[in-house]
Amino acid sequence: VDDSEHPGCRTVQAACFSRIRTLQPLVRPTFIAVSQSALSLLGLTEQDVLSDPLGPEYLSGSRLIPGSEPAAHCYSGHQFGLFAGQLGDGAVMYLGEVESGIHGRWEIQVKGAGVTPYSRDGDGRKVLRSSIREFLCSEAMAALGIPSTRAASLITSDLYVSRDPLNSGHRIQEHCSAVLRLAPSFIRFGSFEVFLGRDVFSGLQGPSAGRHDIRAQLLDYLIETFYPNVQQAHSSRRDKNMAFFREVVTQTAQLVAQWQCVGFCHGVLNTDNMSILGLTLDYGPFGFMDRYDPDFVSNASDKRRRYSYQAQPSVCHWNLARLAEALGSELNAAEAGALLDEFMPTYEAFYLCAMRKKLGLVRKELAEDSQLISDLLRVMYNTGADFTNTFRLLSCVPWPDEGDSKGTAVGPVVDLILQQCACIDELKVTSRPTMEDRELAMILSMAQTNQAMFRIVADRPDVAGQLELMGRLKELLETDQDELKEKQRDDWIRWISQYRRRLARECDDTHELPHIKKERLRVMNSSNPRVVLRNYIAQNAIEAAEKGDFSEINRVLKVLENPYSDPDPLYEPEACVEKEHKGPTVSY
Ligand code: AMP
Ligand code: MG
Ligand code: MG
Repeated sequence: VDDSEHPGCRTVQAACFSRIRTLQPLVRPTFIAVSQSALSLLGLTEQDVLSDPLGPEYLSGSRLIPGSEPAAHCYSGHQFGLFAGQLGDGAVMYLGEVESGIHGRWEIQVKGAGVTPYSRDGDGRKVLRSSIREFLCSEAMAALGIPSTRAASLITSDLYVSRDPLNSGHRIQEHCSAVLRLAPSFIRFGSFEVFLGRDVFSGLQGPSAGRHDIRAQLLDYLIETFYPNVQQAHSSRRDKNMAFFREVVTQTAQLVAQWQCVGFCHGVLNTDNMSILGLTLDYGPFGFMDRYDPDFVSNASDKRRRYSYQAQPSVCHWNLARLAEALGSELNAAEAGALLDEFMPTYEAFYLCAMRKKLGLVRKELAEDSQLISDLLRVMYNTGADFTNTFRLLSCVPWPDEGDSKGTAVGPVVDLILQQCACIDELKVTSRPTMEDRELAMILSMAQTNQAMFRIVADRPDVAGQLELMGRLKELLETDQDELKEKQRDDWIRWISQYRRRLARECDDTHELPHIKKERLRVMNSSNPRVVLRNYIAQNAIEAAEKGDFSEINRVLKVLENPYSDPDPLYEPEACVEKEHKGPTVSY
C-alpha cells in the first residue's frame, strides 16, 4: 500500500506493509555511539560509518540509503491481555535487507523516524533516554548470548519533541534520536493478528480480517526464509506449518528461560512485542533485577503486575496461544494444543539446564537439582541477595575437599554474599499488610530517617509494593538486628553446605577431579555475568547524555560487550547496588 497520501492514523487493510515515500529528516543528526559488533554484521566498520559525513543522515532515516525501500509494518496485538486492533510500526521505518556475505541477511530499520500510517496519537519520534536504553540493552543482551534484535548506531539531533517523562503533568522539550536496528526479521506474533476476525470482548477486528490469502503468504515467507529445513522436510502445507509452530514454541521457551537466568524483565510482553524468531524485541520499560524478587515488575504502569519476572514464562505461553489462534486454519488445532501443552515442560527443561550451568553442575543431572535451585532462590529472597552478584560469587564457594567440614572455608564467601544483600534486612517479611493511613505516615517518616530504606520504598513502582515494603520496614525496626544477621548467615551456610554436597556428587573418579573443578569455574564464569545493564547504570548514562556528555554511554557499552570477563580496571561495578540507586526516577 502506498501511504504517502495518508500520513497519520488510519486503518490499512489487505497489506502487511505501507511504503513510506516522504522522509522526515532530523535536524543536525549526530552520532552518540555505534556498535562495532552490530555494524560488522552488515559488513561495515566503525570507521566506515563515522568517517562518512553523511553517516548520521543515512543511519537516522534523514536521507535515503541508495537501494533501500522504506516501509512501515502493519501488525496488531493483544496489549495487557486485550485485543488492541491495528497497531503497527508507529515510530519505525523499515529500510530493507542487507546481504552481507558470511553474516547473512539482515533487515535494517530506523526507530524514531517520524510518523507512519500506524502512529495513531504518537509523533513517531523517540527521545534520547528511550533510544539509549534500547541501544545499550540490545547490545548487552547479544553479548550475554541472549537472542535479541541488534542496535548498530545511536544518533541524537537538534530536533525536539515535548514529553512528560515522569507522568507528572509537566512537559519538557527532549532531543529526538534514532536507533538503527537489525534483525533477521522483525515479524512478531502480532503480525498474524491483523487477520483476526471481530474480538468478542473488544469488538475490534484485525485490519485485514479474513484475508487468509495474505496470512498464508506471510507464513510461507517465514518458513522459506528462516526454516529451510522445515521447508524441505515436509511436503504438505499443514505439516510445514506445524513444524514451524513447533519451532516458535521451542525458541520462545528457550528465550524466556534465558531471561529468567539473568533476572531480565521485559516489561511489556504484549503479543506485538513477541518476535516470531524468539528474539528479545522492543526495549521499553525493561529492567534487570537487583535484589532477587520473583514479583519484580520493571514497568511502573503495570499496576496489576501482569508482566512480573515470575509471570514471564506463563505470559509467553499465553501469547503463543494467541499466535495459534491467529494462525487459525493454517494449523491443526488439536496438534497446536498439544504443542502448547509442551511449552511449560520445554521451558522448565531449558531453565534447569541453564541453572545447572550457573551452579557449575557440569557432569550430572540429578533429580535433587530443582530443589537445590529453589532453595537457593528462597535464601536469596529472604536475605535480599543481589541476583547478578550472588550468582557470580557462587564460583568462590570452595570445592568440598577444600577447607574443613565446619564451614570455615565458606565463611569468606558467605560474608561476600551478605555484603551483596543490599539493605537486606527490610526483606524479611513477605506478607502484604493492610494499614491505616496514620500508621503508614508514621512508618514513612521512620523510613525517611533511614535514607537507604527510603530509597528502596520510593523506588517501588506501585503503591501495593510500597505498602508491602513499608510493612517489612516496620517489622525490621522492631527486630533485633544482630539476631537477624546471624539468622541470614546461618541460612547461607546451610545452603552452601547443601551445594557443596551436591558438588561432591559430580565426581566419581578422583583422577578427574582437577578437570571437573576447572570445568566448573569455566562454565560458571561464562554463565553468570559480572555486569548487566542495571537501571541506575542506564540512568547515569542518560543523565550525562542529556547534558551533552556521551562518554558514559560509550564506556558502559564497552563494559557490557564483555559481561563475563574479569573486572575491567576502567569500570569496577557495584559492590552494593543500592548505594548508587537513583530512587524513583526511571527514564523509559
Ligand atoms: P510498544 O508498547 O513500545 O510496543 O508500542 C506500542 C505501539 O505504539 C506500537 O505500535 C508502536 O509502534 C507505537 N508507538 C510507540 N512509540 C510511538 C511513537 N513515539 N509514535 C508513534 N507510535 C508509537
Ligand atoms: Mg512494540
Ligand atoms: Mg516500544
